[in-house]
Formats: sequence, C-alpha cells, structure tokens
Amino acid sequence: MIVGIDLGTTNSLIAIWENGAPRLIPNSLGEVLTPSCVSVDEDGSILVGRAARERLQTHPQHSAANFKRMMGSDKTVYLGKRAFRPEELSALVLRSLKEDAEAALNQPVTEAVITVPAYFSDAQRKATRAAGQLAGLKVERLLNEPTAAALAYGIHLRDGESKFLVFDLGGGTFDVSVLDLFENVMEVRASAGDNYLGGEDFVSTLVDRFFETAKVPEALRSDARFMQGLSAQVEQAKRALSDSPRTVIQARDGENEYRMELDEAAFEKHCALLLARLRSPVERALRDARLPLAELDNIVLAGGATRMPIVRRMAARMFGRFPSCEINPDEVVALGAAVQAGLKMRDAALDEVVMTDVAPYSLGVSTTVRIAGDQFSHGHFDPIIERNTVIPVSRVKRYYPIQDNQKVVELQVFQGEARMASDNIKLGELEVRLPSGVEDRGVDVRFTYDVNGLLQVEATVIATREVFSLVIEGNPGLLSEQEIAQRFSALSELKIHPRDRIENRTLVARAERLYQHLRGMPREQLGREITRFETALETQDQRIIAPAAKAFREVVDYFDHQSFLLPES
Ligand code: ADP
Ligand code: MG
Repeated sequence: MIVGIDLGTTNSLIAIWENGAPRLIPNSLGEVLTPSCVSVDEDGSILVGRAARERLQTHPQHSAANFKRMMGSDKTVYLGKRAFRPEELSALVLRSLKEDAEAALNQPVTEAVITVPAYFSDAQRKATRAAGQLAGLKVERLLNEPTAAALAYGIHLRDGESKFLVFDLGGGTFDVSVLDLFENVMEVRASAGDNYLGGEDFVSTLVDRFFETAKVPEALRSDARFMQGLSAQVEQAKRALSDSPRTVIQARDGENEYRMELDEAAFEKHCALLLARLRSPVERALRDARLPLAELDNIVLAGGATRMPIVRRMAARMFGRFPSCEINPDEVVALGAAVQAGLKMRDAALDEVVMTDVAPYSLGVSTTVRIAGDQFSHGHFDPIIERNTVIPVSRVKRYYPIQDNQKVVELQVFQGEARMASDNIKLGELEVRLPSGVEDRGVDVRFTYDVNGLLQVEATVIATREVFSLVIEGNPGLLSEQEIAQRFSALSELKIHPRDRIENRTLVARAERLYQHLRGMPREQLGREITRFETALETQDQRIIAPAAKAFREVVDYFDHQSFLLPES
C-alpha cells in the first residue's frame, strides 16, 4: 500500500487510493488535518499534532512548529535538552500519520508519495526524502503540491483539453502552477511562488493593526501570554471573516480591555500589501508558460488561506473570473498525492493519466567570459537546464578551459535566475582534471534532473572519456545515508505517546493553555477541574475515564469560548 502525504508547514494530511478514488484518513482525534507540531511531554514521550500545538504556548521550550521552513538547512531545534534537525521533526509528523493510516487500514504502511512546494530547492527536496526515510517510509516520489492539487482536479476533468492554474496559499507558502491536461497527459507548464507568504502573515498583519487601532501599549509585545492570546483571537477573527461580514477582536490585560471591530473591507485594506504580493508569482508563471490569461480554462484554489474571501476576490480580480473550489482547498493536495499513489500502484482506473513536471529553478555553472583579447570577466552564471523545463531532463553543454596549459577546471554549480553566479544559490562544486597534450580540451557537462527534483552533475573529458560526478560536499544542510541510518535508530528509540490516550492528552494540553490565560477565580476553577480529570485518568479505568472526559470537555469548551474576555474576579 502506497499512501499519499501532504507534509504541510501548518497542517499535514494522509490519504489513500481506494476503490478508484482518493480517501483522507483521520488521525486519532478523528480529524483529517494534523497540525505539523511536535512536543516532548513531561514523561519524555513525543506528542504530535493538536496536543503539541497547544503545548507550543504552554511549553515553548519543549515544542516546535514551522520546521518545514527550515528543511534543507542544518538548523537545530531543541525540545527540552534533545536536539532535533528539521528532517527529524518532519519525520515524527510523518510517523504519526503513518501510524494513523496503519490503525485505519490494519496493515503496515511502508511506502509514500510526499508532496513538496514547487519552489523547494534541491536541498529541501533531499531533506524531505530523508524525513521519509527517518519515519520508516520509502519515498516513492516527491510530488509538487500544485501538481497534486491539479491531479485531484484532473480526475474530474478528464475528458477534453484543459489548461489551468493552481493557486495555493497555505499557512506559510504560496505556489502558483500552470498546467495543461491533454489526452490524459498532464503537464506542468510553469511554476512560481513565494516561500514566505501565507495565512500566518495575515494574522501578524492584523496583530500589528490591533496594537495601533486599539492603542495597546507596545510593552505588551514582550508579554508572551498576552501575545499568544491575541494571536489566537486574531486567527479566530480571520476565520470568522471567511463566513460572516464582520467580527470583533478583543483582548484583556488586567484591568485594561482592548477592542477592534473588523469588517471585510477593513481586513482587505489592512492586508493590501500581502494581497498585492500574490500578483507577481502569478504573472511570472503565466509568462513562463507563454500562456495568455484568456486561454486558462480554469483556476484551482488550494491551501487553507484561500478560504478567505479577500483572497478569493483578489484572485477573481486578477483572473477576471471566479476560481474553482469544489474540492476543499486544504485537502486537495493530499487527495492528489493519493491519486499519484494510485498511479504508482498501477490501479487500472488511473492507468492512462501520465504526468510531467518542471524544474522550478534554472540550474547551471559559473563561467568566465572573454571580453576582448586576454581580458576576462569571471563568475557569470550559465544555465544548463532552464527554469520550467519539463522534467525528467538531461542536458549537456560543452566547456573549454580559458588557459592552454590549464590542468583543472573548477565546475561550480548554481541554481537561480541571476546573471552573476554569486547572486544565485551554490549547490556544489566539481573538480575536473584535464589531460595535457591532447587536441580536444573540451569537457561535456551533463545535468540530469529527475522527477523528484534531484540533480546529478557529470563531467566527461572529451579526449579521455574520463567521467567526474558531483558529490555535494560541505553542505551542512544534508544528511549522508550513514547519518540517516544512525538517526533512524535514535528516533526509533523515542517513546511515542500511546495513540489511544492522545485524545485525553490533547484535552489536558488545551486546558493547560487556557489556564495560562486566565487569572483569579476562573483560573482556580479550571485548575481544580484539570486535577480532577487527571485523577480520573490515573485510575486507568475506562468506566471512570469516559464520563469524566465528557464532563471535562464541556468545562474546557466553556472556558475556551470565554477565556480571553472573562473578567478576573
Ligand atoms: P499548509 O499547506 O501551510 O500546511 P493549510 O493549507 O492547511 O497550510 O492552510 C493553513 C492556513 O489556512 C492557516 O494560515 C489558516 O489560518 C488558514 N485557514 C484555514 N481555514 C481558514 C478559514 N476558514 N479562513 C481563513 N483562513 C483559514
Ligand atoms: Mg499546503
């Protein structure tokens, strides 16, 4: 069984291909969205998902989120005393999803299709693959998220030709892809995006606006408790505006109450700069696809943040029509990954859909340009594979040393679009030794980019046919196979919170978060309720725990609705 996984910045989902259709698998809380958060509990066990997200606030030193943004780097995140790399944290999320699927399917799950933003670099893709391995999953394929979304829709649009654009605004990333579906061949014509634009930015913009409008003292910005409460209120308000025209944001600090009314028009105005940033990746993708807007048959929305009417309106204005959103935008990528998993398993229903993808960046080498005579200009970027070339692709270019007596050529490999190599991202370098006394001093440099977005560089000396291959050295962002194996066993030893207790554990985590927001009597009351419920849990007797959990949930729900507004006495 191959599963499809959307490993998101904010939320992750797992889906399978079953009876000719993709199906999402809920986690132990019965939810299909698992927050991409990890926390280490008091007893040292690992919590993933909602409980971990609650603990981000109560136990920030023991909890982590947003680690997808660090993928491909060598950043270290400490949860308590233990250090984790971003791929290890991602692996814990993957492992939790894998266990959810195993529990639902009653069979081991060992293979997966995992989605990545189209904009992910070589290092980020390799880190994602490593995360899969660390979770005990063989990564059958890395699939671009917009391609997955298109695939989920492609099934429904299978007859006839269709050109469409996927507009994916998640919690922290924005991806645009232009796709073409023709006679069962789906091709990504172009993709572009912004790795640092998402729904969270709308929250931080509103938080700033709240400080200004409600005249909140700037000093409160360093009050973690206040800021957490406010962010939660703002997130709620942002979502409320997706369903109703106006809402109110309120916050309280001791005696002082702060308040801001917000309607859609004001929300749109405050976020005008963010909305404007949606435009340029769309324009770039269309330009690269050489497709006029009018030729698009459809615009597909993906990502939870496209639920915001202001985003939909912006999209509608840009495209001159309303985008499609028949499939739930935060589920569409995972569903598409399951479609791809189905393809992999050669399910008859999907046999015919073929898919091609594109390279998100130009890839090339640094060269020296002769200006005149023996005047040279160094460090020019010479692309070998150009951005948005359909992959898999293999391209070769011939280079010659500048000096007649030159013994080595230093091939420096870069990705990016800038004219000068140093303005692009360096991927690695390769030393090619040249033989002396041969007539043809040329070197063929071959770049091969596979469907997973992994790059291989090979240099062949023409005269001797000697081949040099690129080993990306000194890249702190990547783990070697050996390191992966070591970390795999270290991770396997970590204690995972028992699945059947996650629901109650999540409830306690949520109550603890609320407890921090309250003061005075309500705080005391809630504290007593938490202790009472913990006592019930200690009995390990379901006949006692079940009714206690039900009662406790009601109490927690009550406080959750009131927490930020409650007077303190
Ligand atoms: P990612 O792909 O980054 O993991 P998702 O596609 O799950 O993210 O989208 C998460 C984002 O969607 C968050 O910023 C969240 O606030 C936003 N979001 C989810 N539901 C709504 C809603 N109803 N209204 C507005 N924003 C929403
Ligand atoms: Mg997403």
